[in-house]
Amino acid sequence: METRNLIGGHWCLAQDNRTFPVHDAATGEVLAQVPDCDVADARDAIDAASAALDGWRSRHAPEREAILRSIAARLRERKREFAQIITAENGKPLDESAGEVEYSADYFDSAADEAIRLGTEVIRSRRADRSLRAIPEPIGVVAAITPWNFPLAMIARKTAPALAVGCTQVVKPAESTPLTALAFARLLIEIDLPPGVVNIITGAPDAIGSTWLSDGRVRKLSFTGSTAVGRHLMRSAADQVVRLSLELGGHAPFVVFADADVSAAIAGALTGKFRVSGQTCVCPNRFIVEAPVYDEFVAGLASLASELRVGCGRDEGVRIGPLIDDRAIERVRSQITDAVAKGASIVTGGKSVAVAGCLDRFFAPTILANATREMLCFQEETFGPVAPVARFTGEAEAIEFANATPFGLAGYVYSRDEERIERMVRSMNCGIVGTNTGIISDAYAPFGGRGWSGFGREGGRWGLEEYTSWKYVCSAVTT
Ligand code: ADP
Repeated sequence: METRNLIGGHWCLAQDNRTFPVHDAATGEVLAQVPDCDVADARDAIDAASAALDGWRSRHAPEREAILRSIAARLRERKREFAQIITAENGKPLDESAGEVEYSADYFDSAADEAIRLGTEVIRSRRADRSLRAIPEPIGVVAAITPWNFPLAMIARKTAPALAVGCTQVVKPAESTPLTALAFARLLIEIDLPPGVVNIITGAPDAIGSTWLSDGRVRKLSFTGSTAVGRHLMRSAADQVVRLSLELGGHAPFVVFADADVSAAIAGALTGKFRVSGQTCVCPNRFIVEAPVYDEFVAGLASLASELRVGCGRDEGVRIGPLIDDRAIERVRSQITDAVAKGASIVTGGKSVAVAGCLDRFFAPTILANATREMLCFQEETFGPVAPVARFTGEAEAIEFANATPFGLAGYVYSRDEERIERMVRSMNCGIVGTNTGIISDAYAPFGGRGWSGFGREGGRWGLEEYTSWKYVCSAVTT
């Protein structure tokens, strides 16, 4: 397992040799010590990315395409090994980790497709005395700060388009899941990515983030994480006018109309809600179900949820792994206590589950009936395996309910009426809508939010746009 950082093609420790421990998410066992980098290391990473920039940006697009394809292929070959590292430090079940590796490889394939499509565009002018064109240029050195819930995919989403356009990059993964990032760094060396094109360091978030944002050579930051940290980074980005993509918290509504296929809605709710134990920003957070099918939906979802096996992600058949830390468990408990005090009832779950030889971080999949918008779980992102279900009547109420939040990442709607589905798609104030499905992520599509969920898109050609600075050239035509 790689535990050192990658700067300028070299494996490094922190300059002052400090380290911090990485723990197994289920057992708490120390898996490794990784460098606890600070300001000087963060600056070294920018130096390396700056030195590599001219060489990388001047490569022909097909060369960059080939490198992106080989990263995708190598990730697929090494799926099992990456999945084991993800499961160890994040805790999610092994098959979900394997799915994450595939999904990450897709980002590199998608960026490879786009790398060769991106090119100079000729613009039609009404004036005959000029010719116009727009040249896509890489923004320059870019930074990525990533969260722990998808330790590989969140890097893939940012690295793939950056490389496709010709940017060089500095990356800081989350403190709880740096080993996946360092294994990815090792893969980049194996496929002969030129030194300095991607630099990955682990350590103090504030010191690294503020060094990157204040340096002036870093021209963009792509961040995925909490809205609170996103706001802080946005303020810090102002001085050097650093371009941003922010993928922040979500609070997704999951709307089920009485005319829906209720069993399909239950199945979609189950897969959407309980992935990564409910710790994804697109997990349905507010279930809003029309009165005539409310009881059927609640009973069906509770019955399936109660059968999901809770345990260590390495064990066969486990669907719900540990939550990431004690804070996460506390948040889940306090949302349930608040909901019950305000009239919700626990249909299944509602308590921790003891797993032999493991930490007290496991929580039973929980269904709360009679949820209302006064409850915390309808106001704040849960990031845990809790599904509160509220009632509504009629489309107007559904829309109003779904949009009653400043967040706007994902939303879901179930109905058999296609016209209604289209009306809902148009009315829902969010960046991503799933219709009659609970799983929406796809590396070829523009993933991203609105409002407090942030801005910028990741995936497909939209992902490349975030790393592109268009140069418009206006030339006189002399005849
Ligand atoms: P969560 O609450 O889900 O852990 P965070 O927003 O705290 O989400 O973390 C997401 C990423 O942001 C992690 O890589 C973390 O280290 C980083 N981070 C946290 N605080 C800061 C900060 N002040 N500056 C830069 N990065 C930060």
